[in-house]
Amino acid sequence: MKVTFIGAAHEVTGSLTLIELENGKLLVDCGMEQGRDIFVNQSLAVDAASIDAVLLTHAHIDHSGKLPLLYKQGFRGKVYATRATAALADIMLRDCAAIQESDAEWKNRKRKRSDDPFFTPIYTMKDTEGLLRCMRPVGEGEKLRILENVEIRFTDNGHLLGSAAIEVWLSEGGETRKFVFSGDVGNKNKPILRDPTPIAEADYVMIESTYGNRLHDSAESDHVLQLAEAIKTTLSRGGNVVVPSFAVGRTQELLYMIRLAKLRGLFGRDDRFRVVVDSPLAEEATGIFLQSDPSCFDGETAAMIKNGVNPLYFDGLEPSVSAEESKALNDDPEPKVIISASGLCEAGRIRHHLKHNLWRPESLILFVGYQTPGTLGRLILDGAEKIKLFGETIAVKAEVKYLPGTSGHADRNGLKEWLSGFENKPRRVFVNHGDDAVCAEFAEFLHGLGYESMAPYSGTEFDPIKNEFVLVTEGVPVTEKKAGSGTESSGAQRSKQLSGELEQAARRICELVSAMADGSNADKERLLRQLESICKKWKINRNTGEK
Ligand SMILES: [Zn+2]
Ligand SMILES: [Zn+2]
Repeated sequence: MKVTFIGAAHEVTGSLTLIELENGKLLVDCGMEQGRDIFVNQSLAVDAASIDAVLLTHAHIDHSGKLPLLYKQGFRGKVYATRATAALADIMLRDCAAIQESDAEWKNRKRKRSDDPFFTPIYTMKDTEGLLRCMRPVGEGEKLRILENVEIRFTDNGHLLGSAAIEVWLSEGGETRKFVFSGDVGNKNKPILRDPTPIAEADYVMIESTYGNRLHDSAESDHVLQLAEAIKTTLSRGGNVVVPSFAVGRTQELLYMIRLAKLRGLFGRDDRFRVVVDSPLAEEATGIFLQSDPSCFDGETAAMIKNGVNPLYFDGLEPSVSAEESKALNDDPEPKVIISASGLCEAGRIRHHLKHNLWRPESLILFVGYQTPGTLGRLILDGAEKIKLFGETIAVKAEVKYLPGTSGHADRNGLKEWLSGFENKPRRVFVNHGDDAVCAEFAEFLHGLGYESMAPYSGTEFDPIKNEFVLVTEGVPVTEKKAGSGTESSGAQRSKQLSGELEQAARRICELVSAMADGSNADKERLLRQLESICKKWKINRNTGEK
């Protein structure tokens, strides 16, 4: 039995852990890396085709985004997730595939003109649809045997609709060890969702640490009031409130909060302003929220739904807009609230709204979630004076603010509290899903509380039966990318790709030469002249191959 820590190791994104048993192989999460890449992730130590099952903690792309790639590489096993996660993964992975296909199409239109080789998206809609057929929704709290020697259970952890910690019982040679993967641990007292449910026992725990070195604003602060005031101030000075929001989860929480602010009369008499949700994915996600089983929600929200009240709707809300209407918003001078995706400002319609509002001192850019280093969102939040969008330089004159209390992640105390739910201290706690220094700091903090804790780097291997490490690796820093250039493909990467393509082209020429053995002398002479002309052009000496 062996567990290999691969992704989100000393990083926040790209969650991926491999579990190998004598009779089966499992992955926990299969996420995409987003933003700046700090450490090289070890590649999967086994064939994708040999993986029997993936356990998915929740639908966020940094946990699910590479599943279609796994399918493309031959995976045909089952993906276990809660019902709500399966429903959300369906829309999120399709959205991700559509973005990659259209991105490749755009790049290839340019490459066709420049005669560069075609760019292939990392996966397509077809791969995604294949993967989605592997989904096996499981009820929360239901213990399920998925392989002869593996049982699992999903337990609500209050981070996103459907999100869960996963309890995994692994047996081999008559011995059983229980691993618990925290997934992303939610905040307590958040709107809509339940608080994280404690888990009683575990031999080993893998815990996230996004906010492992920080404490959120006090729970007593009135975040609905803070949101209402930010909106009121901006609208009264004639600006727009532009909210880069994660389409799934954060957008629905915001709608819930604005509805509450209106009910509490926090906008005064003038509360008929427009709130536009400009994200087709957010619209679909809202639909899934409203159709979910009320047991997914906290008491207040569940009661509203039972009484036929839509907790995500209020007067003035425009839950969906077409691409044309979205463009028209930029010409409309009436101050309004625009909630758009992506939350990290890396893609989607939000970039247009930023282009039209960042330079306006009367507008407000309101961030409502963690901004990964290397993303445009982080750049703006960190105080950049100018940014580049669509090849244009835009001055940042708008007010930029972070709305406290909107984090989807528990802070250091919340994580500590979740861990204290275990009746006995686990034998070991592995820390992941945090910035490099934060992973290390949080592991140290836990050590101080008496836990046997460490933050493994990618490639570290652990034997749960023997309770010992098989291999402890050091982090391998990504050197190709310059800091802050997370969105651009690096020169070094491109160079590697081109070298590979050149070698392939050279092999095709060798095949052509072999195939020509039976051809006419005229053809042979013509090809010989063409090849010699290429060599001459590149000053390659035919005998020595030297330049
Ligand atoms: Zn998440
Ligand atoms: Zn995450």
